[in-house]
Amino acid sequence: MPQNSSKPILRFAPSPNGRLHLGHAYSAVLTWRAAAQLGGTALLRIEDIDTERCKPEFVDGIYEDLHWLGLNWPEPVMVQSDRFDIYARAGNRLRHLNLLYPCFCSRAEIAAAADGTDPDGAPLYPGTCKHLHRGEQIERLQRGDPVQFRLDIEAAKARVGMLTFTVVGPVVTDRPQIRYARPERWGDVVLQRKGTPTSYHLSVVVDDAAQGITHVTRGRDMEAATDIHVLLQMLLSLPSPIYHFHRLILDDEGRKLAKSKGSESLADLRAKGWTPDDVRRAVGP
Ligand code: GLU
Repeated sequence: MPQNSSKPILRFAPSPNGRLHLGHAYSAVLTWRAAAQLGGTALLRIEDIDTERCKPEFVDGIYEDLHWLGLNWPEPVMVQSDRFDIYARAGNRLRHLNLLYPCFCSRAEIAAAADGTDPDGAPLYPGTCKHLHRGEQIERLQRGDPVQFRLDIEAAKARVGMLTFTVVGPVVTDRPQIRYARPERWGDVVLQRKGTPTSYHLSVVVDDAAQGITHVTRGRDMEAATDIHVLLQMLLSLPSPIYHFHRLILDDEGRKLAKSKGSESLADLRAKGWTPDDVRRAVGP
């Protein structure tokens, strides 16, 4: 159920694995505007659990770009890499419920055995390791084989029953609507791996609850992931925020902007003489 907070709290939660581009600018400006429309506050959260790809200079870049856009947030900023012990505890709760199992499959093995694709188009994990004998699990864990811990979606769903979440849109002040979540279309997602006691899904639900987030504003490309998030919220007894999925900013070929596709960063645009107003005009309302 949505939280009963008197003061709306929203968040912008970029990952510092590159410089921000126009897609981030749109999401950030929309989040701060939505917070103002709702009479609430927008927080910044740095999502840097991927310690290989995330870099301190990109964190500095996020602060610089958002300040340039005229956006401000309360301090201190929540930084996910400070919180691995908290995510490990959440993972342990799921483990005690018998909902996590070790998976030793390689990417190639999963691709070869995949049972279709998940909503992001990745090979759907067919559950190969779910039925591994306990003795083999222990032996391979003790041997130090590369391991990922997956959520047993079937068992998790059986615990919580029917799952719904609340969506608002096209604007954040619209009347809430109820949607059904279908976590099974993701298969048994990875929540922890050797050396990293969390995943995007686990950290995001733990932190949205820790920060008292009442409204999550994020791109439509992340709508399907909400299936997993509401399931984890139920399993961990966390409140479920209201969700708003915004349109995506596309390039000239109609593709979503992405650091990996070399989309121009806000820093590049600034260097070319763009102003914050140029950015707002380019992304639109
Ligand atoms: N950190 C994620 C990203 O940069 C967004 C997280 C979210 O909105 O839940 O893509």
